[in-house]
Amino acid sequence: MLDTPRSVRLHIAIFGKRNAGKSSLINAITNQELAVVSPIAGTTTDPVFKSMEITPIGPVTLIDTAGIDDEGELGELRVKKTKQVLAKTDLLVLTIAADDMPNAWDTMILEEAEKRCIPVIGVVSKVDIAEGQEVENWFESRKLPFARVNSNTREGIDKLKDLITSNSPKDFLPETIVGDLLKQNDIVILVTPVDAGAPKSRLILPQVQVLRDALDARACVMVVTEHELKTALNALKQPPRLVITDSQAFDFVSKVVPSDVPLTSFSILFARYKGDLREFLNGIKAIDTLAAGDKVLIAEACTHFPSHEDIGRVKIPKWLETKVGGKLDFSWVVGSDFPENLADFKLVVHCGACMINRAEVLARLDKCKALDIPVVNYGIMIGYVTGVLNRVVKPLEK
Ligand code: SF4
Repeated sequence: MLDTPRSVRLHIAIFGKRNAGKSSLINAITNQELAVVSPIAGTTTDPVFKSMEITPIGPVTLIDTAGIDDEGELGELRVKKTKQVLAKTDLLVLTIAADDMPNAWDTMILEEAEKRCIPVIGVVSKVDIAEGQEVENWFESRKLPFARVNSNTREGIDKLKDLITSNSPKDFLPETIVGDLLKQNDIVILVTPVDAGAPKSRLILPQVQVLRDALDARACVMVVTEHELKTALNALKQPPRLVITDSQAFDFVSKVVPSDVPLTSFSILFARYKGDLREFLNGIKAIDTLAAGDKVLIAEACTHFPSHEDIGRVKIPKWLETKVGGKLDFSWVVGSDFPENLADFKLVVHCGACMINRAEVLARLDKCKALDIPVVNYGIMIGYVTGVLNRVVKPLEK
């Protein structure tokens, strides 16, 4: 269970002011001493991510956030991180201690959640030390479902879990990456180049996830590097139902795979699975209007050591500058970082985002959309500059 990637788990964020009892609540939900509990307000600094299973939802990630009412320099940083958590939140649990009064910070979090269409559950915590009627009234007046909880005795935890189950968005992630394009006994070839950019001794997460998804669809899967692709195709008595390649090999693979065999890439499948395929395709138009000197943001959702063949640092800049016919002004962000100020960028190029959840990708797309900044993903951009975009998107059209 613990090996389910965090990026495909439902993300439940526990918000609340300092010392609202968030860490104790997480320990009570998980029934383990996972979070550090201290009576001193503001103990939790960085958000803490914990994986667990909630029946019947399945694997979830609980996020213990810093107190949202922090003040001062360190406090501002904590608040910024707390807001970053909102971008990846599928369900928000707002915790207010029974001996406290809801205030502007609680209201601000509710407003942020509403803006982002995040469902909210209330918790009246520490009901052993106060009645908490004011807090109850506050949740009721906002028509929010809530549970009264004593984390020390776990009183109210079952009700909270029921509320989590009934209020969790069912569509936080599409059911499948590729399974809807396949049926039992279809033959699928996965092309996974093993170059200096590939990690040693393993496949990367999008490749593993697509492989598992195809197996779940009961397809027969062959995994090859681009060098053995021709041998694999020749070994088959019938053409494969689908070839899925690393987008970096589009140019080579599209020439080897017969034109009547459907071809796509891991990254294009992830544009649909983790984001919004239409939105990424809309971004393509911007490539034709890019001019030398324009600012381009390359966003990678994980931190990896860049190699001399690195796609984000080396290959994509080279493809784009060749297309533009001049130097571009590139910036890079990795992991959870995504700039507040995007206005200067003429284009955002995003990776397949296998390491972050769908909510976070959609929040980034919304941010770009609000500022009218075109955004593409790696596979779509490479498909376009190598002239195969229509072909590699076609298998996903229904
Ligand atoms: S997060 Fe992005 S850069 Fe990192 S492995 Fe996944 S798709 Fe590639």
